[in-house]
Amino acid sequence: MRSTRALIYKDNLIHNLKTVGSFVRPSVKLCVAVKANGYGTGAVTAARTALETGAACVAVATVDEGIELRENGIACPILLLSLCAEDEMPLAVQHELSPFVCDSDYIAQFEAAAARAQKKIAVHLAVDTGMGRLGCAVAEAASLAQKIAAFPHLALAGTCTHFASSDEASADARAYTERQFADFLRAVQSIADAGVNPGVRHCASSAATCTRPDMQLDMVRVGIAAYGYYGGEADRAAVASRGQVLKPVMTLQTQVSAIRRFYAGQCVSYGRTWKAARDTDIAVLPIGYADGLFRRLSPDCTHEDAQGKNERLHVAINGKRFPVVGRICMDQCMVALGCDSGVRRWDTAVIFGPSESGALHDAADIAKIAGTIPYEIVTSVSKRVPRVVV
Ligand SMILES: *Cc1c(COP(=O)(O)O)cnc(C)c1O
Repeated sequence: MRSTRALIYKDNLIHNLKTVGSFVRPSVKLCVAVKANGYGTGAVTAARTALETGAACVAVATVDEGIELRENGIACPILLLSLCAEDEMPLAVQHELSPFVCDSDYIAQFEAAAARAQKKIAVHLAVDTGMGRLGCAVAEAASLAQKIAAFPHLALAGTCTHFASSDEASADARAYTERQFADFLRAVQSIADAGVNPGVRHCASSAATCTRPDMQLDMVRVGIAAYGYYGGEADRAAVASRGQVLKPVMTLQTQVSAIRRFYAGQCVSYGRTWKAARDTDIAVLPIGYADGLFRRLSPDCTHEDAQGKNERLHVAINGKRFPVVGRICMDQCMVALGCDSGVRRWDTAVIFGPSESGALHDAADIAKIAGTIPYEIVTSVSKRVPRVVV
């Protein structure tokens, strides 16, 4: 196996699922989002572990992701959170995925696909209450629900919405979430008033699950928290206030593939952005942006935070911190070791992960350096990085 690999700490996944579960009232179902290859950790591992830990169902973004789960024996309901292409509908039906739907054309197309396969498909009606992405208007919810109910090959299994700012702690964000929630309840009520059972009502993702127990309704859809990260400051504070902590599930690591002595004045990598000020050993690591180590993490590209501080990417080797120097390449990057580091070829270099992996950073720290969020860091670990469940 190649040196660059992602270790998946299954115990941490279980710990996080239980921690989030402790926020969820017993009558509330847990749906775990395993889209984007289980936020990088491996969708099948994530789904199996979620189901073993009490989840009722899982959610994916694409039909292919759903098929991968079915082909690996995952039999629970699988929610399809994003819209699929017309030519994927027969596959979605065949594999009994439960699509989010939000307009009459799309609903009618799914009915036709289900009719051709002679199957009855569970669908969830998505209502847009202010996320501005998928969903029908609140005022359209009842008539769409009636359409779904009238179709012989569709069943309205649930009604849902998605919050835009539930991960933010500000008063303005809280007010927005409350307004979204109130509008969602109005939509649900209008469906019931029209004589249709709205099914399972769900709106909370990780952040709202931990911060707003009053918004859990019948089911919560948890993603990032299962993988050990917070949606934002609001849920981080909510978990901390109970003396609990989420644990990163994935470690991204590699091995030193070569150590070379550089003399003062020698340059490293494309663009010669780094020049040795004094003699130093340079370690070559076989990991680059094609593995998910963004080029914008290179020392000359990193993002300044609000304080104007420009954090640099470091890796951990034998518990010590060493800076990445020069531009990160597609498949490799270089690390300055100084002169007496004691580092040897094949030593493990940890990019990010839980502390027990020897990491000095987690994906949230890396995200800060890159000017993004941990979601993007973990989902960017690419396909050519083998996942090893430990
Ligand atoms: C991805 C996703 C979630 C999970 O969100 P997290 O912030 O990762 O908990 C929930 N609902 C929908 C519609 C999603 O797309």
